Formats: sequence, structure tokens, C-alpha cells
Amino acid sequence: MKNTKILQVEGLEKVFPVQGGFFSKKEGLVHAVSGVSFEISMGETLGLVGESGCGKTTIGLCILRIIKATNGKILFRGKNILDLHRRALKALRRRIQVIFQDPFGSLNPQWSIGRIVGEGLRVHGIARGSEYEDRVDNMLKKVRLNPEDKFRHPNEFSGGQRQRIAIARALILEPELIIADEPLSALDVSIQAQIINLLTELQRELNFSYLIISHDLSVVKYVSDRLAVMYLGKIVEIANSNDLYFNPKHPYTLALLSAIPGSDPTTKKDRILLSGSIPSPLNPPSGCRFHTRCSKRIDKCEKEEPQLKEVEPSHYCACHLYH
Ligand code: SF4
Repeated sequence: MKNTKILQVEGLEKVFPVQGGFFSKKEGLVHAVSGVSFEISMGETLGLVGESGCGKTTIGLCILRIIKATNGKILFRGKNILDLHRRALKALRRRIQVIFQDPFGSLNPQWSIGRIVGEGLRVHGIARGSEYEDRVDNMLKKVRLNPEDKFRHPNEFSGGQRQRIAIARALILEPELIIADEPLSALDVSIQAQIINLLTELQRELNFSYLIISHDLSVVKYVSDRLAVMYLGKIVEIANSNDLYFNPKHPYTLALLSAIPGSDPTTKKDRILLSGSIPSPLNPPSGCRFHTRCSKRIDKCEKEEPQLKEVEPSHYCACHLYH
């Protein structure tokens, strides 16, 4: 089933107008996402990684239709979700669920955790009465929480437990795709491994797909079948996880990987330090957007934009050094 495409993103663009000064005049456009394409198969996990501000979260918000894409297509099981109207959108929200970074901020503090987890069943009219209670209890068990605690409130749980509640809330609707935006970054390192294991176990059992968005390549590589690296609104490299990790092509991916500490503390890694900070998406650099920070740039990098092309089987890279 892994070859059945569940999500196809084609030429996605998101531009935000920037307003300022007297009369809130339009001052420019932020090119948050510029022509991004990728796909996710059934049961597959795609990790989308890059520095903060590279546009990865904006992609997730466009897929969820929390914000409106400027251009492009987002096909979910072959249907462009950007064309869906209110009713169809409500049905779609059952099939695509989200887990946010901050498990506390995303849970209503006034509600019991049983109500938080079961709310989707009520909103979509899926279960009532004893069936509702059974489904909530089973879901809490699946994420290793005690159903007897379902009358307690989020503030009575630890950060890791709150993320389990958020996972239960997402899974109770039996979604086909879960978008997890930095699901581990608010958690202690010791808890991160437990949540990673839980996410992968649940996927094996329930066979849904993940889009995992993260700034931390070292974490997502363990859970992802494929990895896509983003820089300033574009995907610059995409490949199978191991391939990207052990055989990276793009100079930006090489720099990200060099920043991950090695497992052997006695072996020194040569870290590639990027000069300067990430340029503003209000005025992205010409040609290759990475050229202002790339130590390998050649003459044409400043003028010509490299396209994402297959450089080895199933390994795509947007860099002039490979074409
Ligand atoms: Fe560096 Fe040029 Fe490749 Fe861009 S296209 S990553 S500037 S070598």
C-alpha cells in the first residue's frame, strides 16, 4: 500500500502581504513558500526540516486550510483540497489531523482530558453515550494513559503526558494523515524518545501517514522514511532518510548535518559554519537562494535558479554542482 499516494503537493506558493506605516499601506510581499512540490504515500512518514522561518510550518497550515495558499495544488486522495467548500472541508478535517508543538497551549485548560480527546467524535457525530465513552477509554489506553484519569484537567499532567493527550485527540478520528509540527521540541530529551516510539508504534498499528515538521534533523531522521530539506521557502533536497543522512548532496544539508553531535564524543566532527543569517523572505536572494551563505558557490549561482532534479535514483537536489 506504500505506493498509493495520499497527499500530492504541487507548485505550492504562499505569499503574505506586509503592511506598515500610515494608512497600513502595502509595503511588500513575504515569499514564505515558493513552488514547493512533494508527495506522501499511505503509511509513509515524510520529515520536513529546515531552520525557523524557512516556510515549513506555513506548508502545514496550507494543507490544513488554516491559511489560504496563494497558488498551486494540494491533492488529498486525488482531490484538490484548495477547492473544497465548507461541508467537504469539515469531512476532510476528520481525515487530516494535527499535533502541535506546544501540548499545553493546544489543550483547553477548562476541559477534562476525556472531553478534549472525545470532542472530535461529538463534532463529527461519530459516537454517543457508551460507545463514545468506550472509544475515549480505548484511545487513552493506546497512548498509555489511564482511562480513570479522564476527568482530570491538562494542568494535572506532565509535558509528555499532555503530548499523549494531543496524540489521542488526533487519532480518535482515525485520520489517514497526521501533520505533526515540532511534536517533540517542547519536551525534555528523556521524554522525546518515548513520544517518538509511541508515534511509530501507533503508525504501525493504525497505518496512517505522517508529515513531521521539525528544525531538528537528528530527531526526525529516526522516524521518517524520507526527508525533505527546506531553505527560504523552497525544498532544496529530498531523498530516502538514510540516503540523505549518509549521502547528502546539497551544501545546506551538509551544513545542517555537520551541526549534529556525533555518537562518539572522542571523534571530532568538522562543523560547517554558515556565514550570516537566513536572508529575509521579503526580498529573497536572486538565483540560488542559498548563494549568500554557500561556500561552494560558482558564478552562475547568483544569476540562475537551480531546479530540483533527480541526481541519483529517488534522490533529488536543487544545486548547480550536480546538473
Ligand atoms: Fe551553493 Fe550554488 Fe549549489 Fe546554491 S547552486 S547550493 S549557491 S553551489
